[in-house]
Amino acid sequence: MTRTFSIIKPDATKRNITGAINKIIEENDLKIIAQKRILLTRELAEGFYKVHKDKPFFNDLIEYMISGPVIIQVLEGSNAVEDYRKIMGATNPSEAKEGSIRKKYALNIQENSVHGSDSDQNAKIEIEYFFEKKDIVV
Ligand code: ADP
Ligand code: MG
Repeated sequence: MTRTFSIIKPDATKRNITGAINKIIEENDLKIIAQKRILLTRELAEGFYKVHKDKPFFNDLIEYMISGPVIIQVLEGSNAVEDYRKIMGATNPSEAKEGSIRKKYALNIQENSVHGSDSDQNAKIEIEYFFEKKDIVV
């Protein structure tokens, strides 16, 4: 079994579609083994997205990510990182495949409803950034 880190972003918590997104996650054989609703601080959000700090969209991204509650999650599956990236769909919803979370729910390239780790190494780093071992129940 492998793990990935997920965030259901503020546009989704605001529209009350976190259950609908979790249903897609579970229907695609990923198991939610940790989950918590939190309000990100600016510091947490900036640290989490620090690889993007020089991008033109960074400041808007941080304001958006702290604009409302998020659901942070650990997902487990046989190929969790790759499978979840597929289930999420492309960053830009206009390029996302039919049946993906972003195709169905994303509002635009920024408010795209979900985050998923892009590698096993980043999954480990991101999970440890937000969760303690005792919070993850298999
Ligand atoms: P992903 O979330 O698909 O891994 P990135 O890591 O490239 O995408 O970007 C992180 C997040 O920053 C995106 O999910 C989205 O919310 C936002 N973002 C990415 N590119 C843009 C852009 N060109 N304009 C506005 N926001 C963007
Ligand atoms: Mg990314």
